Amino acid sequence: MAPQREWLEQDFYKDLGVASDASADEIKKAYRKLARELHPDANPGDAAAEARFKRVSEAHSVLGDPAKRREYDETRRMFAGGAFRGNGGANGFPGGYTRTTDFGGGGFDVSDLFGGGGAGGGADIGDLFGGLFNRAPRTSTRPKRGNDLEAETTLAFRDAARGTTVSLSLTSPSPCTTCHGSGAKPGTSPRVCPTCNGAGVVSRNQGHFGFSEPCQDCQGTGSKIDEPCPDCAGNGVTVRTRTINVRIPVGVEDGQRIRLAGQGEAGLRGAPSGDLYVTVHVSPDPVFTRSGNDLKVELPVSFGEIMLGATVSVPTLDGTVGLKIPPNTADGRTLRVRGRGVPKRSGGAGDLFVTVKVAVPSSLGPEALAKLREYADAERADGFRPREGWGDQ
Ligand SMILES: [Zn+2]
Ligand SMILES: [Zn+2]
Repeated sequence: MAPQREWLEQDFYKDLGVASDASADEIKKAYRKLARELHPDANPGDAAAEARFKRVSEAHSVLGDPAKRREYDETRRMFAGGAFRGNGGANGFPGGYTRTTDFGGGGFDVSDLFGGGGAGGGADIGDLFGGLFNRAPRTSTRPKRGNDLEAETTLAFRDAARGTTVSLSLTSPSPCTTCHGSGAKPGTSPRVCPTCNGAGVVSRNQGHFGFSEPCQDCQGTGSKIDEPCPDCAGNGVTVRTRTINVRIPVGVEDGQRIRLAGQGEAGLRGAPSGDLYVTVHVSPDPVFTRSGNDLKVELPVSFGEIMLGATVSVPTLDGTVGLKIPPNTADGRTLRVRGRGVPKRSGGAGDLFVTVKVAVPSSLGPEALAKLREYADAERADGFRPREGWGDQ
């Protein structure tokens, strides 16, 4: 039986007329004597005697029971000196607070305080990918939600640009496949803890103070498993390797983190799983570089092609496209091919920017060399002066 507030206001030793260090025998003898004297049968109509009889009975019910007497002594010692008159907390009395659910040794889960385990980049990705990764509301630290997991994957440049699906192999606490995470032996199910009615905590009063303690019966989980699952010992979780397919949306860039809600570590006893964060690395491409949704490529051309004009095949993410180079194009000029860049999540795509660069042959054959000399003479005769204005004739 729990200690009563009344204990603090009653002196049972005084009621029995014994010292506070009286032996069990002395207490028993004192009680018998008083009980005989004060018994209502021996004092018909004597209200005072009846009241004393009740106090003596109550005193004996506590002091006559060694466990209760210890509790009574303890309570009175702790509350001695007036501490129980409402300033117990200020005196540093250990009972002057209300405990919350700090069972399991772990205290509360900080991630729950802040609404989720995803730190840092998680929010950015969430914005980027819209409602795809909405966080599940979390209201309780119990049963325990699974931890978040981190994973990495490296994508080819073109896969990252176009979007792809990758398989990740993860070894982590996962929902038990035998009991599907409930912790109960297949064919049975957990039932609501009868001691705490599923609350996971029980309250008791001691003096002025309300204590909220984890329910011992269910270890604070609120449910009881009569027959635990043999594979996970009732935790609902086993460590295993699983393969998950992760859909990588189009246009991811190197270093981005993708959040996969509910793909982290499994929660205990059917609690929600954590989230999985996949950091994406993108390998460079031999041909393309990227700037946002635009792609850039450097296109080698011959002197003849940029002078005479030509239609040249240019690589894109998806096959090739014919690019028309107009006559007399300057070396280093950039031409734009609309809509052949990186696909956008909103639809459409960026542009492809093609920079022409004259490739100079390392040597020429006799015929080309003879023609080139002829050309150089003709060009001079035409009056082409590349350094005109520098005072050079
Ligand atoms: Zn199981
Ligand atoms: Zn319980």
